[in-house]
Amino acid sequence: MRQLVYNILFNQNKALSLYEIEQHFDNAERSTIFRTLKTFQDNNLIHSIDDGTGAVKYALCDDDCACNIDDLHIHFLCNKCGQTHCLKDTPIPKILLPDGFSLKSANFVIKGICSNCS
Ligand SMILES: [Zn+2]
Ligand SMILES: [Zn+2]
Repeated sequence: MRQLVYNILFNQNKALSLYEIEQHFDNAERSTIFRTLKTFQDNNLIHSIDDGTGAVKYALCDDDCACNIDDLHIHFLCNKCGQTHCLKDTPIPKILLPDGFSLKSANFVIKGICSNCS
């Protein structure tokens, strides 16, 4: 199961929702897939993205990713096809926080039209 889910994510160049991953299986329990994703996430193999579409999406992390703030990158949501891409070469910008505030996570999504749709 883990190998299958990993391969599905590996073969995509976009982030996938739980529903989209489920479509690759003839009969697999949604809860089993979800648990697998959770395990991957706990081990920094994948990261989740809330792109504002209502469905959390998942994408593989780079090998050296520790899912720290420094590892976070911007995501691109295509307004046309609704696909979300990792912009792994574009780290989230430095955020200037007021005194006493500390950053724990960030969800940076930009929107536009992808190369497939333009
Ligand atoms: Zn598109
Ligand atoms: Zn990503």
